[in-house]
Amino acid sequence: MQQEKLAIHGGAPVKTTPYGSGKRFGLEEAKELLEALDQNTLFYHQGKKVKQFLRDFGELYGVKYSVAASSGTAAIHVALGAAGVTVGDEVVTGPITDQGTLIGILYQNAVPVFADLDPNTYGLDPSSIESRITSRTKAIVVVHLAGNPCDMDPIMDIARRHGLKVIEDCAQSYMTRYKGRLVGTIGDYGCFSTNDFKHMSTGDGGMVLVNSGDEADYQRTHAFADKNYMRFESTVVRDLSYLAPNYRMTELQGAVGIAQLKKLPLVCERRHSYGDRLTAGIADLPGIAPHRVADGNYGTYWFYMLRVDEAALGCTRDQFSEALKGEGVSNGAGYIKQAVYMQPLFQRKTAYPGSHFPFELYDVDYKEGLCPEAEAILRTAIVIPVNEFYTDTDLADTITGIRKVALHFGNKEGREA
Ligand SMILES: *Cc1c(COP(=O)(O)O)cnc(C)c1O
Repeated sequence: MQQEKLAIHGGAPVKTTPYGSGKRFGLEEAKELLEALDQNTLFYHQGKKVKQFLRDFGELYGVKYSVAASSGTAAIHVALGAAGVTVGDEVVTGPITDQGTLIGILYQNAVPVFADLDPNTYGLDPSSIESRITSRTKAIVVVHLAGNPCDMDPIMDIARRHGLKVIEDCAQSYMTRYKGRLVGTIGDYGCFSTNDFKHMSTGDGGMVLVNSGDEADYQRTHAFADKNYMRFESTVVRDLSYLAPNYRMTELQGAVGIAQLKKLPLVCERRHSYGDRLTAGIADLPGIAPHRVADGNYGTYWFYMLRVDEAALGCTRDQFSEALKGEGVSNGAGYIKQAVYMQPLFQRKTAYPGSHFPFELYDVDYKEGLCPEAEAILRTAIVIPVNEFYTDTDLADTITGIRKVALHFGNKEGREA
């Protein structure tokens, strides 16, 4: 078969036009911001913007109670606090994630325990979660990675059988659906981030959905984001009964959030379509495992992550990545370099300088090989960026580029030529 010469070998690159781009913020956000300033207060309890933002978000998700926070990390910490996670508890979570998933666990002086992932959806493997449960386990923090839902039915079943709280980390998964249901509404709490890199941005910020619909649960969650203050309608209670941080959202973030929420469904639809069409364009390629979204689920692709079968292609993941870059197709070799438990904090067991607390409470070990599927994913993954402004040309070029590189390496004669 005639092989097209790779760009890195002097051939013509596939992609010759710049990626589509656009403005995320406009007059809609500016109008809300001016109104916020005109209130003469930027404090959430006195202003209207954060309240409106939470109402709109709750409406979009069909959830009555939600709480605002200063970041996604903060939102997860707030949910852990509301769930009653405390000193010496164990919390099961995923090893491929942002450290924001883990920070709240350690600030509660609880111990993160890592379960392995599905090799193709990159969601937490329910049987691995169950194998990690001990008498000390209090909660599961489920990470819906890259806009793809975890397998929530078996996870909720395991949690209920063991009496565990489920916190969903939806920082990368807006409008993502599991069997028709929005992720973030399935566990006890759904946590979101509005940092500048997510599907929607308020600069920084976060939200917690309180799915029980229980008022006392809501009040606990609300208080944990506000120094344990209970600020409701007319009453303010400031009794300090336990430690709670100040993770309040300001009216400025709430204002921008109101405008951003209106754009969110279209952003998610575009990313969904881009990712699914990318899969359709490369699904038949030998040696390439597309980013799998299980049947009946709806992915909103915060990024697209395929895997390279190095043996079948006869090249390394890094060689594939370099060749694809040569074709003008943006990509990165891997998402994070190593499973999060390989970070110095876990290897040295020092969450707090000069201390091994809370790790020293138990015989925990964060060694290589702890989550073999997750480690294999990170060794063989190629991350393809997805953006709502990318065009059909960008998609077609990405597909053509991946096909060209995969067929070049996969074809022995082509390789030797
Ligand atoms: C972004 C992110 C967070 C943390 O959000 P921040 O707003 O940056 O604190 C947590 N978990 C995951 C999976 C994320 O992608």
